[in-house]
Order: sequence, then C-alpha cells, then structure tokens
Amino acid sequence: MTELNHQIAAEGSDAYDPAVVERKWQTRWDERGTNHTDLKDGVRPFYALMMFPYPSAEGLHVGNLFAFTGNDIYGRFQRLQGHTVFEPMGFDAFGIHSENFALKVGTHPAVLIPRNIENFRRQLKRAGLMIDWRHELSTTDPAYYKWTQWVFLELFKRGLAYKKPGAVNWCPVDKTVLANEQVISGHCERCGALVEQRFLEQWFFRITDYAGRLLEHLDWLDWSESTKTAQRNWLGRSEGAELVFRVQDLLEIAGAATVGFNAMRTTAEMSAQTLEIKVFTTRADTVFGATYLVLAPEHPLVDAITTDDQRTEVEAYRDRAARQDIVTRKVNKEKTGVFTGSYAINPATGQPIPIWIADYVLMEYGTGAIMAVPGHDDRDFEFATTYGLPIVRVVANEGENAHTPLREPLLDTEDPARLVNSGRFDGLTVSEAKHAIVSWLSDHHGGKTVINYRLHDWCISRQRYWGPPIPIIYCEKCGTVPVPENQLPVELPYVEDFKPDDTGVSPLARVESWYKVKCPKCGGEARRETDVSDTFLDSAWYFLRYPSTDFPQVPFDKARTEKWLPVNSYIGGNEHAVLHLLYARFVTMVLHEAGHLDFEEPFTKFRAHGHIIREGAKMSKTKGNVVIPDTYIERWGADTFRTYLMFLGPYEEGGDFRDQSIAGVRRFLDRLWSSTVEARRDGAPDPQVLRKLHQTIEKVTEDIPRLSYNTAVAAMMEYINALRQGEREGHVEEVRALVQLVSPFAPHIAEELWERLGGAGSVFDAGWPTFDPALAAEELVTLAVQVNGKTRGTIQVAPEIDQDGALSAAMAEPVIAKFVTTTPKRVIFVKGRLLNIVV
Ligand SMILES: [Zn+2]
Ligand SMILES: [Zn+2]
Repeated sequence: MTELNHQIAAEGSDAYDPAVVERKWQTRWDERGTNHTDLKDGVRPFYALMMFPYPSAEGLHVGNLFAFTGNDIYGRFQRLQGHTVFEPMGFDAFGIHSENFALKVGTHPAVLIPRNIENFRRQLKRAGLMIDWRHELSTTDPAYYKWTQWVFLELFKRGLAYKKPGAVNWCPVDKTVLANEQVISGHCERCGALVEQRFLEQWFFRITDYAGRLLEHLDWLDWSESTKTAQRNWLGRSEGAELVFRVQDLLEIAGAATVGFNAMRTTAEMSAQTLEIKVFTTRADTVFGATYLVLAPEHPLVDAITTDDQRTEVEAYRDRAARQDIVTRKVNKEKTGVFTGSYAINPATGQPIPIWIADYVLMEYGTGAIMAVPGHDDRDFEFATTYGLPIVRVVANEGENAHTPLREPLLDTEDPARLVNSGRFDGLTVSEAKHAIVSWLSDHHGGKTVINYRLHDWCISRQRYWGPPIPIIYCEKCGTVPVPENQLPVELPYVEDFKPDDTGVSPLARVESWYKVKCPKCGGEARRETDVSDTFLDSAWYFLRYPSTDFPQVPFDKARTEKWLPVNSYIGGNEHAVLHLLYARFVTMVLHEAGHLDFEEPFTKFRAHGHIIREGAKMSKTKGNVVIPDTYIERWGADTFRTYLMFLGPYEEGGDFRDQSIAGVRRFLDRLWSSTVEARRDGAPDPQVLRKLHQTIEKVTEDIPRLSYNTAVAAMMEYINALRQGEREGHVEEVRALVQLVSPFAPHIAEELWERLGGAGSVFDAGWPTFDPALAAEELVTLAVQVNGKTRGTIQVAPEIDQDGALSAAMAEPVIAKFVTTTPKRVIFVKGRLLNIVV
C-alpha cells in the first residue's frame, strides 16, 4: 500500500477525492516515467501531434485544453491498442503576440516568455496530458531557432528565398507588416488601426512554385474536408488564358508627350517598339465583348502609356491608391478609376479600346491587368455604367439574341448559352468558344492557355524584434551572403529598447554592434540582415524537431525521423488551415526535395476540432466570460473537467460550456468510483449487465477513433446506470472493463481504480478490453407461431419484441407464411411465448 492509500484508509472515508487521486498519479507518472516514449526502440510508433500553443500571459485557454484533451484521448487510445505513442508539447513563443504584450506591460519578452511557459507547463501537467516532457521545445530557444535559420538557408540555397520590394499592409500602430489575412475590412486584426500600404524590401519564399502540388495532394490526404476546402480556396486555382493587347498609337503618344520610357530615343526607334499588355482571363470566350482594359495603378506600363492630358489625374489617383491597404482594395464596393489617354487593340475585333487604371485591379493577381467585359461581369458592368463605357453582349441564353438589351450583366452563361456579336465564333457554346478563341488568338496575335493561382509568395520578413534574425549578411563586394551553417545560430541580441518605430526598419537596425560584421566570404566590412523571420516559419517545421530534441548537432536525426514521421495524427483548429498547415506542407516538400526527408506530406491525418462557447455566447476577455481552466480543475478535478469538455458536443463541432452541466459528469465519476470500490468479488456477474458492457465496449471502441467522444461518454454513463439499476451492487467483472474504457478520458481515476482492482502497473499498459460479440448479442426467445390455433413453426426473437414485430418476423418464414393467404382477421400475442394468427 502506498502512503496515500494508507492515508485514505486511515481517514476512514473512501469517497472520491480528485485532488488526492490526481496528485498521487501525476507524481507517480513522473517517478515511473509512465509518459516517456521509447523513441528509439518503441514498437508500432504512433505520433499524436497537437498544435503547440503560444504561451500567453493569461495562461492556458480553455480552447487550448479542449484541443489538447481531444488529442490526448486519441493518443492514449492508440497506446491502449498496443502502439508506442509520442505526445510532445512545445511553445510557439516568438512573434508579435508576445512582443506586443511585452510592450504593453513594460517587461522584456526574454523575461516574460519563460515565466509564461512555466505557468503553461504547470497547467498542462495539472490537466493530466500524456506528454513526454523530455522533448519539450520552445521556438525562442537558440538551440531551436538555429535550425529555423537552417531551414531558411536551405530555401535560400535552392533559390526559393528571394528579396523584392513588395506592396505590404502596414499597421501604423503596431508598426509592422501584416499578412492579408491579418487585415479585417481595412483594419489591423490586432489593434484595429486603419491599415496602410507601403513598399518595403522583403524576403519572400517561392511557395507559388509549389501551388500545383499543394493542391493535388489534397485529393489523397486524410484531412477534415473543411480544412481541405479552405486550402483549395486559398490556393485558388483557375484555368484560363493569357491574351495580348497591343497598345495603339505609340508614335502619336511619343510625339505628343514625354513618355516614361526613354524620351531620348528617336522616333524611328520608338515605332519599332511595341508595347503589349498581357491580361489573364478565365473567360476568353467573351473577348469580343472586351470594351476597355484596366491596369492596376502600380502596373509598370502606366507611366509609359499615360498621355500628357491625363498625367495629373493619373498621378493623383495612383497616390491615393498607394495609401490604401491591399485588402480594402479587394473588397471595396465603390469602383473608381482614371483613363490613361491611351488605347489598345482588342485582338479579336481589331478595334481600339481605352486603357484605364483602377484600384480594384491588383498587381498581385494574374498580370495586374484585365480585359473588361461589362456585358458579362458584375464589376466591369458597374464600372462601365459609372464611366459611360460601351457595354456589348457577346453571349445569349435561350430566347435571347445579339440585340437583346442588357439591363444587368449576364453572368450565368452555362451551355446551352451561345456566342453572339463574336464574328466567326457566333453560335458556339461558351465551353466550345473558350478553346476555339484561345487557339485562334494564339495562332494570330499571341495568347495561350495558362493556369493561375490566387496564392502569393510567402512574405517572411518582419521589421520587428522578437523573432529569429534572418541569417543573411550583405557585403558591398560579395552581395547577399548566407551565414555559414557553422556560424548558426545568429543569436537575437538582448535589446532593451525593442520598440518598433515609424522608419519601418527593424529595431535591430539600431544596434550597430550587432549588425556590423565581417563578410564570411571576403572578410570585409559587412552588415547583417536586421529583419527577423515570420513566426509561421518557426511553426512550419517544429514537428520535425520533437523526436530529435536530444540531437544538438542536426535539425532532425535521420533514424528518428524515419521511425516517427510523417505525423500519424494531427489535431488542431481550422483557423490555421491556410497559413500554418500550408506553410508546414511547403517546407516539408522543400526539405524532401533537398533530400532531408523521405516523405513529402508532413501530416498523414489531420482533424480540425470545433470551438466551444459559454452559455450560448462567444467567450471573450472583454465580456469577462472566459472559462479559466485552473478554477474548474480545482473545484471539480482534471478528470471531470476533461470528460466534461469532451461531453459538450461532437468534438469536430464544439459545444456550449454550461457550468450547471459539469456536475453531471462529476456524478458519473463518483458513481464509477463507488461502483468500483464497493464491487462484489464473489459470485458471478449478471449476464444482462455483461451484455450491456460488451455493447458499451463496442460503442466506445468505435467512437474514439472517429473522435465521437461525446457519444462515447454518453454510452459509458448509460452503462453505469444499467450497472447500478435499483442501486444494485456491481460485480468486479462488471466494472473492470469500464475503468479501462474511461481511462483515456479520465486517466487519474482510472489508474487509481485499476490499482484497487488489483491491476499491475499502469492501466495504460494493460491493453484495451476485448469486445465479445457473443456476449453483446441480445438473448433470443423462441416463439411458437400458430395459424388458426395450429402450430406451424417457431421463430427466434428478442424478448422485448412487440406484436407487430413478431408478426412480421413470422411472415418472413415461408413455412408459416404459406398458411396465411389473406389479411389476418385477428392476432393473439403472448409476449415471449406465443403468436396465433387467425385468418
Ligand atoms: Zn495594429
Ligand atoms: Zn564580402
């Protein structure tokens, strides 16, 4: 007997006290290394990954715990099925969240973060997760980010990291670049400030080169459909055509004005020069209806084609557009624009059409230019109406013709709609015309079929302090020089004043002693890159590091990686569907190509969990309705809290947290406790109860792998009701398997009860109860069937079957049915014994 058991026995009371039980087992797990994974020799390895948290000062959020508990149950279940399960944990501690909070409270993040991590670790341990803490990592640890920098260099070496001036969303309050998805209707997601557009030299990763593969693999990945759909939309593949529009009257423009390109050229040279505007369209079939072109205000040809008359207006418009953020430009309802004064030739009609600029066209998408077809596009229709540009119908539905007026754009032009006003292509269906027109244009005027993606290259520069420095050195002689691998990590220096300022350069650019270095190539004076990398780079590879945290010399050990990766099961929130999950896939593909990994996809299986609300409302700090896990765990115990979280609703949908309902789950564990400690050991278990038990084993065994945790808990509750019906005393063989079934949900109480039932070692090493279909089968009774009082046969039915059920079972037997040739006049049914059909 352990000391605690003595204590419990000495106190005389043997009621369930989660505080005592949970402390006892957490201590014991630590002492015995119960949660340690044998990464080297463990059989049937199973890597159960959860999304590592950002260690906020507020501590573990209930949403974190909801996610982690769901993963923990899955992991523990796999262990009970005979797998060696690895459930690691780490901290995503770099980034703007931490830095802003540090600025707010006036404490350096280097001081704050370890404190927060300490608190998180305490809370995670208290929650009873099966974490192997020996493999904990933090992205802020130089031993970790040394390899984040290595990942950067791997991309750099392969030409996948490059620098260019980029139009970026700039938050004037946070003084940083924001990703498009961090801009919510023109405002900063973090602070609410109106976002501006700036041009900064930024490092980008060429993720767009991988768009096709990132999309194709989704077809075979075992992921939540909602996540795959989000990624497909984000990648935004569209098949279309690139068409070429020649700018007209170049000589005339050149003669009339000083144009943006070389004004010193002779007229003869000018005439030889042809300006071409390429547009991307998914609707090449409507090219005869293109009545004007629109360029993005930043389009490189704008200067060259703008006429003198229009220059003042064009420049004023470009200035205004430059101050807007990118997202607002995408969603802006009001369409504005300016005529450049120039015309281009529509390659299909041969007619000149005006060239405009408008901020609804973005440089980042397609070619930064569109052909406007107001007859068949909402935006273009609106624009043409506003500026009095021609609207031409080129598609007609049934019952319409070339002259039917267009009061609104005709958008639904699926077959059998046919082309009109389109010369030789009149009469073709839309899908026929798409191919025919592109092939005709490509023969005569240039133009080709192309695949376009909505995905942009990944901007990874951050002009902030709290991140891994980008491992690049600039030398006047040698140019851009990667930091040699043996000089990694480039440590982030401790900087007292890390506040970003309006200059748009990183706070590290103020630390001369840090950025002034010798060039690794020539030894001359050089300067470090002072931007740090995006926190999404930290999390794009962390799952590779966990199994290898004990290998300081490599980012990930070859044998370990082969044994443990790809990740068997990854559980996390869909808010990371398009950033983290896409970036992790991209980085894995690159490392695979570089020969470092033998797989291309990091997560074999991914499931998105749902979210919980409280008493019908979204939880928020401002509303003050956030569930603080510590409070609940203290009052109810971790086992109750865990089980309750899983009972709230379908795990992949989430549920409503209600303070009143948690007591019901606690009652269930109380009854499990008393049923076990009071269980009879003599005599035999009740066959009815055993039947229910095996039905429950079957249900829970099917439910857990489907993450249907709420129904599994409901089934166990139902079972304990059956077990204790009429306050009967259970038999030890009726509770033993229940303790095992409950163990993934409520691990501490399960360990304690398992020990009390005489189990040796941890319940998690005791395997899973075997489902016996014979025991689970409903017992059948034999029913004699008579027709007009004469016995004609027997049927096997459930004891509870009713008259209708018995009758249809009897009629299914041909030997009986042949005597019943008309509708029965009367049926006499004696439950469990006799069925007499009177015809
Ligand atoms: Zn902001
Ligand atoms: Zn040099």
